[in-house]
Amino acid sequence: MFVRNINDQLIKISKRKAKFTMNEINWNDYGPETQAIRAGQRRTHEQEHSDPIFPTSSYVFNSAAEAAARFSGKEPGNIYSRFTNPTVRTFEQRLAALEGGERCIAVASGMAAIASVGFGLLKSGDHVVCSRGVFGNTVLLFQNYFAKFGVSTTFVDLTDYDAWQQSIRPETRFLFVETPSNPLTQIADIRRLANIAHEKGVLLVVDNCFLTPALQKPLALGADIVIHSATKYLDGQGRCVGGAIVGGLELLDKEIYPYLRTGGPTMSPFNAWVFLKGLETLGIRMRAHGENALLLAQWLETQDWVDKVYYPGLASHPQHELSLRQQKSGGGIVSFEVKGGKDAAWRLIDSTQMLSITANLGDTKTTITHPATTTHGRLTDQERIAAGIGDGLVRIAVGLEDIEDIRNDLLRAFR
Ligand SMILES: *Cc1c(COP(=O)(O)O)cnc(C)c1O
Repeated sequence: MFVRNINDQLIKISKRKAKFTMNEINWNDYGPETQAIRAGQRRTHEQEHSDPIFPTSSYVFNSAAEAAARFSGKEPGNIYSRFTNPTVRTFEQRLAALEGGERCIAVASGMAAIASVGFGLLKSGDHVVCSRGVFGNTVLLFQNYFAKFGVSTTFVDLTDYDAWQQSIRPETRFLFVETPSNPLTQIADIRRLANIAHEKGVLLVVDNCFLTPALQKPLALGADIVIHSATKYLDGQGRCVGGAIVGGLELLDKEIYPYLRTGGPTMSPFNAWVFLKGLETLGIRMRAHGENALLLAQWLETQDWVDKVYYPGLASHPQHELSLRQQKSGGGIVSFEVKGGKDAAWRLIDSTQMLSITANLGDTKTTITHPATTTHGRLTDQERIAAGIGDGLVRIAVGLEDIEDIRNDLLRAFR
């Protein structure tokens, strides 16, 4: 088999090597750890072992006729990196394999993923039902921006299935849920929500940011679309902002990808490459985050300066049973109420030495934040109370440091 090298010379490569172009392997037949490391890789004729980066905005054609064929869609292939890029495509195929989806579309951020689903699927007059405990910007996106285009949103309690059902109208296009919720880690029964949605011909969209496919696979439970903020655990080391949409080929290709081509919230190839490196260790990282988080939550429950601990892995969590069925672990996020309200919460946060005061999550470094005045600070008092986010609430995204050091930092801070 002959291929062109970077100097545009034809070179011969062996048939055995050609066999390993990776494109022909059906990664759905492989286990998740293997998928995370190898799915989607396209080895070039340079025979590189690590995934290559293609930092190019456009692609050249061999002739004017070829350019015309590509632009008209008669011939598949790269045109421009707002549409396709090989590094981004590798990331898309790897994440699609992990989520068990036919197609993945990578985008510039988690919010761009949610916005693209909205722009792709919704029209004026449509309606969305969304759980109350979602990421603060998601609420603002639906309430302030989609509303401008005549799309209305009803917010319901995550676990109130009657409310989900009764809120669906003829104009409802999709249900949107984030489970576990941020920051209270409430859990919705994905299969039950999928049944409620499909009975009425409505789609179910699940934000799977908190658990990733390593711990929860919403598509297998009946969801139609999975949303990711790749910024969080998919990267895993707090380097890049990115997002993704995973789901069925027809739905994504026909209804969402055309918006991406035109609207342009594309993922950069450099960021895609960082996320690919992140995915390679996703399974072991998520296991370790979950182990540390459970130990921290169990310890917090024994502390008399703590009022209440929110973590799905605790038997005291209201949806603990469901979490055992639906998730591989409780994940890496632990929230708790400190006695003494906002002053006590701020004092605790300010007195930590090692923990990073930042609202980001999904990093190897443990982060600590006060949701009421950061991630959920732009909600009205009423919305915040309805979401159950108290003034004394502290959220910890448990990292991969030694658990003793995380516990000691909090204990020292409290004292
Ligand atoms: C961070 C986050 C988002 C938004 O992602 P960005 O990459 O910051 O745009 C959406 N959903 C959840 C659950 C998040 O934690």
